Amino acid sequence: MRVLAMLDGTLADPDTPLLRVDDLSVLRGDGIFETILVAGGAPRELDAHLDRLANSAAMLDLPAPDRTAFEKATNAVIDNWPVDGEIALKLVYTRGIENGDGTPTGFALGMEIGEKVRRQRIDGVAAVALERGIDSGLAARAPWLLLGAKSLSYAVNMAALREAGRRGADEVVFTTSDGLVLEGPTSSLIAVSGRTLRTTPPTMGILPGTTQAAAYRAAERAGWVTEVAPIRVAELHEADGVFLASSVRKITRVHTLDGTRLADSAGLLDELTALYESEYPATR
Ligand code: PLP
Repeated sequence: MRVLAMLDGTLADPDTPLLRVDDLSVLRGDGIFETILVAGGAPRELDAHLDRLANSAAMLDLPAPDRTAFEKATNAVIDNWPVDGEIALKLVYTRGIENGDGTPTGFALGMEIGEKVRRQRIDGVAAVALERGIDSGLAARAPWLLLGAKSLSYAVNMAALREAGRRGADEVVFTTSDGLVLEGPTSSLIAVSGRTLRTTPPTMGILPGTTQAAAYRAAERAGWVTEVAPIRVAELHEADGVFLASSVRKITRVHTLDGTRLADSAGLLDELTALYESEYPATR
C-alpha cells in the first residue's frame, strides 16, 4: 500500500514512473529526505522534520524547501491513506535533473510499516558495533562530508546493515575511530543508567533525532535526567538499557551487542515507550 503526493498536493500513481533517469538523486544520490511516522492520522514531530529538512537542504546548498508545499503533500498522503493504522511517510527533495534549470524534485510517499520493524519494536534487536571511519572532531573540520545531513546517500548505511546480517545481528551501532558511540544507520542511540538517559552530541557528526528529542522532552517532564555527552562502547555493556530510537521504529531495545547479552531492559522499554507515547495523547 502506497500513496504518492506531489508538492502541489496532487496525487500521483506510485506504480507509474515519475523520476527522470537524469535526476541527480538517481545519478549521484544528491538530495535529502525525511521519514515521518503518522499515527492515528497525525504526523509526529512534523515541525522538527521540516526544520531538519531545511537544515539538510542548507548543508547541501539546495534551495530552501517550500515548507507549505511539503505540508500540503504530507496532508494529501494522510488524507488519502485508505485504512487506519500507521504510515511511514517519506519526504524527498533532490537537486533536480542534470544540466537542468536547478528546479528541485520533491514528493511525499506514504508506505506501510514493515513487519520486521513491528516485530523488532516488541522483541528488540541484536546489534554489532561497526566503525564509521570518522573521529569525533571530523564533522566540524569537514562540513563537506555532510555529517549530520539526512542526505539520500544511504548506501553506506545499508551496507552496514547487511554486514550486521552477515555477523548474525539485526542492527548496527556506528562508532568513531576513537572508540565512541555515534548512532545507528537509521536511528539515534540512547543509553540508560538508573533514571539518566544519555545520547551522543550531534556535533560529533550524527543526525539529531526527532524521536530521541521527543523521548528526552517526555523524560525530563517526568523527572528523569537527560544528558547529551559522548558514550564509550564499553559503557553500553554496563548500562541498564541501550535503545535505538527513530520515527518508524519508535524506541527499540538492543538486547545483544557484539554477541554479548546486555542487561534485561524490557521493563525500561515499557517505561520509555509510555513516556514517548505521552507526547502524542490523541494519536496512540
Ligand atoms: N540517525 C540516522 C542516521 C537516521 O537515519 C535516523 C532516522 O532515520 C535517525 C538518526 C533518527 O531520526 P528520527 O528519530 O528523527 O527518525
